[in-house]
Amino acid sequence: MINGLTVDLEDWYHICGVEGYSDPQKWDTYENRIIRNTDKVLTLLRTYKVKATFFVLGYIAFKEPGLIKTIKSEGHEIATHGFYHKRIFEMTEREFEEDVNKSISVISSNINERVLGFRAPEWSIRKNTLWMLNALRKYGILYDSSMVPLTRMGYRDYPVYPCCYNTDYGKIWEFPLTTTRLFWERLPFTGGLPLRLCPYFYIVSEIKKINRMGFPAMVYIHPWEFDKEQPRIDLPLSRRFMHYFNISATPRKTEGLLSNFQFAPIKNILGITT
Ligand SMILES: [Zn+2]
Repeated sequence: MINGLTVDLEDWYHICGVEGYSDPQKWDTYENRIIRNTDKVLTLLRTYKVKATFFVLGYIAFKEPGLIKTIKSEGHEIATHGFYHKRIFEMTEREFEEDVNKSISVISSNINERVLGFRAPEWSIRKNTLWMLNALRKYGILYDSSMVPLTRMGYRDYPVYPCCYNTDYGKIWEFPLTTTRLFWERLPFTGGLPLRLCPYFYIVSEIKKINRMGFPAMVYIHPWEFDKEQPRIDLPLSRRFMHYFNISATPRKTEGLLSNFQFAPIKNILGITT
């Protein structure tokens, strides 16, 4: 079984809903750490000969076209993470279309190839923003990887494994965040704070369990999780915990997973060709 490896390509200050940081006009004033942090991720992937999907923020593609070309030249898939890192439920349909279309234009002209996949900033697709799938398909996106089947984050009735949705413009695949059942809820464990908190042996055994059932799991990382020296943003306590807690565990655990499992970009796992 081959699992999905994904990288949300954004810098340390791309945080939604925090004054001073969610305003794109301020972004140019912050220190650019994306090149060196992405380099750490690329080195790790090269070492283990693993190819991943990079969900690239359009803003980064616009600022650093060379970086996106480098990632592509190393054989990774380039997909989109939107342009301005805005949560879906804070946009109108029209605003979302503009944002995603802008990101697709910049990214596809960088790589000279069609962009096939999308991931919403902060997994922000909710039950009342499913119109997003229609808009994505309208602009040629063939898969989304934004749904979280949890009560507190996404929507608890979202799919747990990859599946297809019908839209006005044709079918679109969904590869949801990997979760496991824990009593009456589900528990994420393959990226972000949950990856940093869960014991490594537990993560390995849960991925193996999902693979034994015949399904791929999906791991996600961010370049800023490979940067212990990044400037610390003065976040509210719960978000500070979510963002920075045990940050040095991400490179260590990712390396362990790369040596234990086989990974591929999402489009390969879903068998999407154009
Ligand atoms: Zn993001």
